[in-house]
Amino acid sequence: MKEQEKNLTLSSELNHPGRVFDIQRFSLHDGPGIRTIVFLKGCPLSCLWCSNPEGISYQRELMYFPNKCIGCQTCVNTCPKTALTFKKGTIRIERNKCDHCGQCAEACPSEALRISGKDLSVEEVIKEVEKDLVFYQVSGGGITISGGEPMNQPEFVISLLLAAKKAGINTALETCGYANTETFLQVLAQVDYLLYDIKHMYPQKHRKFTGKDNKIILENLKQAVKTVSCLTVRVPLIPGFNDSSEEVMEIASFVSSLSITSLDILPYHRLGLSKYRSLGKLSGMDRIKPLERSRAEELKYKIEEKYLLKVRVGG
Ligand code: SF4
Ligand code: SF4
Repeated sequence: MKEQEKNLTLSSELNHPGRVFDIQRFSLHDGPGIRTIVFLKGCPLSCLWCSNPEGISYQRELMYFPNKCIGCQTCVNTCPKTALTFKKGTIRIERNKCDHCGQCAEACPSEALRISGKDLSVEEVIKEVEKDLVFYQVSGGGITISGGEPMNQPEFVISLLLAAKKAGINTALETCGYANTETFLQVLAQVDYLLYDIKHMYPQKHRKFTGKDNKIILENLKQAVKTVSCLTVRVPLIPGFNDSSEEVMEIASFVSSLSITSLDILPYHRLGLSKYRSLGKLSGMDRIKPLERSRAEELKYKIEEKYLLKVRVGG
């Protein structure tokens, strides 16, 4: 976690560009009210079930969506690296040749090719976010910074939060909590609403399925409750990883011990699988079925019976 170990001096003078892979308007599930979500590239974890695999690497990546391809081969003729060929009705990408220049994506008439990852200034992002000011005002919404892991780009995040605050926009942060504590607390000072993922209480299992230990994540949550007054813990409920009653109740016990009152359970879905294919990657969850909503509801009632937690089952 080299980036996270940096002790940053953050100030309103900073204006770093950020590497963004998506900006989604009109979200209703990532903080209060109507929100615009800014997705940043790069994450220190590599959760097997990640539904945004294009957010894991900080590098720009070429994505190919065969269902949109009309077979015109414009891209093949455009690529200066001869990284593309057209065989059996589909484009083949030699990814070791591709330098992510984006020329093929620009030339493609049907948006079947896309570069994930664009470097944007704070002003550019705020300009996009401000388009929905009126909706934030009527709904209590605002900007939500997500990823990937936003704390992977702390300089940009703090600049963006400060700019949002200056524009009178409510701020929310979605994080896995794997970050340098001092930097994290500096960022949290500008956050109105925190969405904090907890995946497992056992360090070894956490490491096996996400690539990293959970010690700093649990510690940072303890610190976060002292800084942010509006906080929801979110638990992705993953078959074979953390969906036993025992594992979920251990998370609930920890969360409740910190006097947090809001917990979201997010049942595993398969919506991200096609994105792995578009990146030329394999998903570790190909054969795992989505989690039944009834199982998530069952766990919700168990938690609410035992702890002073308001549990919401996400879609
Ligand atoms: S991004 Fe550039 S190098 Fe990569 S396949 Fe497209 S045109 Fe070729
Ligand atoms: S330019 Fe686009 S539509 Fe045409 S072959 Fe390439 S990916 Fe397919």
